[in-house]
Amino acid sequence: MPETTSIPTAKLGEPLVVIEGVNKHYGELHVLKDITTTVTRGEVVVVIGPSGSGKSTLCRAINRLETIDSGSITIDGKKLPEEGAALATLRADVGMVFQSFNLFAHKTVLENVTLAPIKVKKMSKKDATDRAMALLERVGVANQANKMPAQLSGGQQQRVAIARSLAMSPKLILMDEPTSALDPEMINEVLDVMVGLAKEGMTMIVVTHEMGFARKAADRVLFMADGQLVEQAKPEEFFSNPTSERAQDFLSKIL
Ligand code: ADP
Ligand code: MG
Repeated sequence: MPETTSIPTAKLGEPLVVIEGVNKHYGELHVLKDITTTVTRGEVVVVIGPSGSGKSTLCRAINRLETIDSGSITIDGKKLPEEGAALATLRADVGMVFQSFNLFAHKTVLENVTLAPIKVKKMSKKDATDRAMALLERVGVANQANKMPAQLSGGQQQRVAIARSLAMSPKLILMDEPTSALDPEMINEVLDVMVGLAKEGMTMIVVTHEMGFARKAADRVLFMADGQLVEQAKPEEFFSNPTSERAQDFLSKIL
């Protein structure tokens, strides 16, 4: 397995993503209400909550796919830039995996993984290819490298999407419901890759309804409802003893 995600032990536990008093509106709708939390290096945070509670908006704000109205978000000590080269650098530091895979449909699996390292990191084609093949191997789809995304199953496509984000050596990976669009029999093959990344020390923020993943891999669970960060706790605490009524109600419906 290539050492793609290992981080120096000395840095574990340092703040990596600092979110302070973040507010966001869509017109009249207050979608993020004064969100404050810090994600440390190597930490795995699972975000759960009812549909419409602002989980995706929070992820998109962290990756600066959405602007915020007030408050601040810093990644590795740097404030999120508005635009331009600094924004491109930030995006390279933050991997994003979406529910809908979002692979480039007209490029092969291999090209999907080499494209950004070549274009953004100016890696040589040979180096990018070697690295991409190692990553595809690691997520178990190296034998699909020359196929087009549509020829792969959903689970395979999502594993390619994870390899693609790892190819940029991100400091953080955001995953927004990475298994929600998958047929049930493919969910585990993607979760296994996610658990592997978590165990290796990758910093991850994962929106998911897969409570098994949360129990197995999360250091902390954030529970959102109505745009608010209602509760945050270690998974064993949160699942056995949710303190808010909203979390109790939510858990009674999904567990
Ligand atoms: P979640 O991911 O928790 O389901 P979202 O962050 O997607 O929630 O959405 C939070 C709220 O913001 C929802 O009410 C949703 O309808 C609304 N919303 C999301 N994106 C937009 C948008 N681009 N324009 C207007 N409203 C939006
Ligand atoms: Mg969402």
